[in-house]
Amino acid sequence: MNNKSGAILVISGPSGAGKSSLLNEIINDIGECYFSISTTTRKIREGEIDGVHYHFVDEEEFKKDIQEEFFLEYAVVHGNYYGTSIKPVKEALKAGKLVIFDIDVQGNATIAKRLGDITTSVFISPPTLSELKRRLEARSTDAQDVIKRRVEMAKREIQRISEYDFLVVNDDLKEAANILKTIAYAARVKIPENEINDFIRKWEDI
Ligand code: ADP
Ligand code: 5GP
Repeated sequence: MNNKSGAILVISGPSGAGKSSLLNEIINDIGECYFSISTTTRKIREGEIDGVHYHFVDEEEFKKDIQEEFFLEYAVVHGNYYGTSIKPVKEALKAGKLVIFDIDVQGNATIAKRLGDITTSVFISPPTLSELKRRLEARSTDAQDVIKRRVEMAKREIQRISEYDFLVVNDDLKEAANILKTIAYAARVKIPENEINDFIRKWEDI
């Protein structure tokens, strides 16, 4: 009964909370996974690679993909479009993999509605708002006005923590990574309702 047909782990949290850093820490220790590469209209940042970090497209192409129902979910975040492609997710689930999404609170709400049965969600928070600001400034990938917008956005995102199964406060990186690893293990063995019913039925036959 233990792992069967794949599962989803949604990771959300303010930009700069440490989602990428935490995933890098655990990715080699949590078994076969597929990290969903989103499509975005955001400008590529220094150090990012098209097709690795995101599929970078223009707004026209993104809107065409919406029309063609290419996305499992999509949302406008910080003024740019972001979306999760259906096809590779379906394939990874069929192959029994843990599918990991780094998506925002709107995306989490959509996934919970569409695939809540096989989904575990975790919100990553920085310990304080001032630490978030410090990390964004230290990362040096965004201009000051962008950082200001991201901090304002974080205040709103944090209001929606109760929509998640778990909250991980990323203060000490190693400690937070250990907790996230435990959640990833648990996500794999979460049992969808239909499988619970199958399991119960088997017991009735004995
Ligand atoms: P996100 O993916 O959520 O946008 P990043 O992983 O890029 O965030 O982290 C933002 C910045 O904060 C990076 O420069 C990273 O090295 C740093 N960082 C991440 N976690 C910690 C931590 N626990 N303590 C101190 N700095 C951290
Ligand atoms: P960034 O521009 O910093 O990479 O990401 C900005 C925000 O967009 C983050 O909160 C990230 O989780 C979110 N995001 C990235 N990809 C997707 C996606 O496919 N769907 C949704 N809903 N949000 C996404």
